[in-house]
Amino acid sequence: MRKPFVAGNWKMNKTVEQASLLVADLLPGLQAVNKIDRVLCPPFPALMVLSQMTAGTEIGLGAQNMHWEESGAFTGEVAPAMVKEFCAYVILGHSERRAYFAETDQTVNKKVKAAFAHGLTPIVCVGETLEENEAGKTAEIVRREVLEGLKDLDPADAVKLVVAYEPIWAIGTGKAASAEQAEEIIAKIVRGSLAESLSSAVADQIRILYGGSVKGSNAAEFFSMPNIDGALVGGASLKADDFTKICQAAQDTIA
Ligand code: PEP
Repeated sequence: MRKPFVAGNWKMNKTVEQASLLVADLLPGLQAVNKIDRVLCPPFPALMVLSQMTAGTEIGLGAQNMHWEESGAFTGEVAPAMVKEFCAYVILGHSERRAYFAETDQTVNKKVKAAFAHGLTPIVCVGETLEENEAGKTAEIVRREVLEGLKDLDPADAVKLVVAYEPIWAIGTGKAASAEQAEEIIAKIVRGSLAESLSSAVADQIRILYGGSVKGSNAAEFFSMPNIDGALVGGASLKADDFTKICQAAQDTIA
C-alpha cells in the first residue's frame, strides 16, 4: 500500500513573514489529515522559521532545488547538507528548473543520488511540453526522463522515491490533464519505465503524483485513479483552504 502524498510547491512566492502567516493558517487543517504525507516546499529563506513552526507535527518540509556537490565555489547554490538541516524532502528536476536554469536529466540524476546520500527524499518531476505532446512524443520524453534522471539507483533508495508526472502544458495554466490521461501516462510510462530500469516490485512501491492545475475541485478525480498516489500542487498550495481540501481529498479517496 502506497501512502498518499501531497506536496505544495510555493515556487518563488512568500517572504518569511508571509510564509509564517500562511503556515499558521494551514496548520490546523493539515494536522487533521493525518493519514497522508503532506509536505510544504517554500523558498529557502522561509525554511528555518517553518521548521520551527512545524516542529512536533508530521508536516514535512521540502526545498525546491539543491546542488549535488557537498560545498565549494558554487555561488548562489545550496548544498544537500544545508537542505537536510531543515527538510526531509527536495523537489528535483521541476520543469521550470529545466526550462530556465538549464537542468538536464544528467544533473537531475546527480542531484537524486546526492539527496539519497544525505537522507533526503527526492520528489522528481517529469513531463512533456505542449509541442512534444502534440507531436505524439509524450511517451518517449517521459520514458527518457525517468530512465536517465533515475539511472543507477540502489533499489533500497529507489523505493523511497516520489515521482511527479507534470505535463508542462498543465502547469499554472488552469488546464489540467484529464484524470484518465494522467493515469494512462503514469501507469504505462512512468511506472512502466521504473519497472524497466529497476523491477516491477520496486516500481510498485514508488509513489507517483500528478501535477498541473490541481485544485480542491478536481483533486478527487485524480486520486480515484489506481496509479495516482497524490499530487504536486503549485498555485493552489498558496491558498490554505484549497490546499487543505486537496489533502482531505487524498485522505478520503486514497487512504
Ligand atoms: C507545479 O509547479 O509543480 C504545479 C503543478 O503548478 P500548478 O499547480 O500551479 O499547475
